[in-house]
Amino acid sequence: MDRVDVLIVGASQAGLYAAERLAQQGLRVCVIDRRPDGVRPARRTLIVTTYLDERLGVVPKRSVLHQVDRMAVVSPNRKAVFDFRRSDWVLERALWIEELTERAREAGAEVVLGSRFLGIEHEDGKVRAVLQRDGSVERLQVDHLVGADGVFSRVARAAGLKRPPCVRIVQAEVRLPRGWDRWEARVWLEPEMCRHFVWLVPEDGRRGVIGVIEDLDRDPMAVVRTYVERLGVEVLGFQGAKVAMYHPSLRPWTRVQGLPVYLVGDAAGQVKVTTVGGTVTGLRGARALVRSIVEGVPYDKAVQDLDRELRIHWVIKRGLARMDGRAYDRLVERVHGRVREVLEQYTRDEMASAFKEILKGDLKFAAWALRHGFRHLPALGRVLWK
Ligand SMILES: Cc1cc2nc3c(=O)[nH]c(=O)nc-3n(C[C@H](O)[C@H](O)[C@H](O)COP(=O)(O)OP(=O)(O)OC[C@H]3O[C@@H](n4cnc5c(N)ncnc54)[C@H](O)[C@@H]3O)c2cc1C
Repeated sequence: MDRVDVLIVGASQAGLYAAERLAQQGLRVCVIDRRPDGVRPARRTLIVTTYLDERLGVVPKRSVLHQVDRMAVVSPNRKAVFDFRRSDWVLERALWIEELTERAREAGAEVVLGSRFLGIEHEDGKVRAVLQRDGSVERLQVDHLVGADGVFSRVARAAGLKRPPCVRIVQAEVRLPRGWDRWEARVWLEPEMCRHFVWLVPEDGRRGVIGVIEDLDRDPMAVVRTYVERLGVEVLGFQGAKVAMYHPSLRPWTRVQGLPVYLVGDAAGQVKVTTVGGTVTGLRGARALVRSIVEGVPYDKAVQDLDRELRIHWVIKRGLARMDGRAYDRLVERVHGRVREVLEQYTRDEMASAFKEILKGDLKFAAWALRHGFRHLPALGRVLWK
């Protein structure tokens, strides 16, 4: 093979989903990944909203470990429990990537493992991707180049695009505390200990993960150890990696010598900064990419809805980052009535719709939020009603 319509670098969630949909449209698609053939992706427990099947039409099968019916949010002195309208999926990432690989291959995409993207070369008016496979260097002529190669995207670097900021996530795989409700996930908001938050997601009736997000200058392991001790649980293993964070200044597309280059998933910072969830948003980015390549819609237009959603999370996160434990207590206390109803009705992937309803339906809450850290609320309003 020396020419393809679309080369996708990164055979993970965003890249494989894009490949499947592009191949379904009859394009010649090749997805490469540096991970050697026969080596499984790292195990990782993901909690994902039903946006996945309800709005994207993707129904995970073998990779489903469990489903969770509610989320408890715990601040230093308060607790609120939200019942989901429909249960969240708990997925195992290695199996999920295997599932997506099969789907992409069945649709006609070529998935090549053990192939590393090195850069872009232009010669005689032709632009080629330079790849390394089995110790030798290959050149591939491409009409569209897609970077789905994660937070440290080499495609972004080769195309001169800015890479997203990132945080570190560690999840300890644990035996569930005795008597733990297996249908409930829990989030602890304790800003004096952890700038972001801590969670426990059950994988079944016996196991689960305790997860922590921290900025790069802090050690998430210290927080994990504290929670493991507090809950008195046995640790069975660890999962961890750096994950991208959305930033409004990111521009995930360009042209290099006439070659259109796009970024999707973590490479594009398509991650909700409130929860550091990048599965659904990465798939939404992949959908926008497909629309752009197949229908010729500019990528910035195709990602507009996703960008609005990600921007809402970014504004909310900036407000939350200002809050101390007492403010979190007040926030949790205020989640009742219409606010609770709305938060139970919409998923975490529909915060743009949810916040519109909350701001319209509960002016007292809006006024409180404005006083307590959400100085960006007017900006939020501008994004929502733009
Ligand atoms: C511990 C942990 C828990 C998480 N929990 C959740 C969760 O509960 N819910 C959720 O929604 N999200 C969660 N996330 C985030 C989510 O996993 C990521 O947002 C998502 O995996 C990003 O997918 P992606 O397809 O963009 O890229 P990635 O999964 O980062 O994959 C990039 C791929 O590109 C390949 N690659 C890189 N460079 C090259 C190169 N030069 N040549 C060829 N291939 C290359 C890599 O091998 C890799 O396979 C979690 C992350 C971590 C670390």
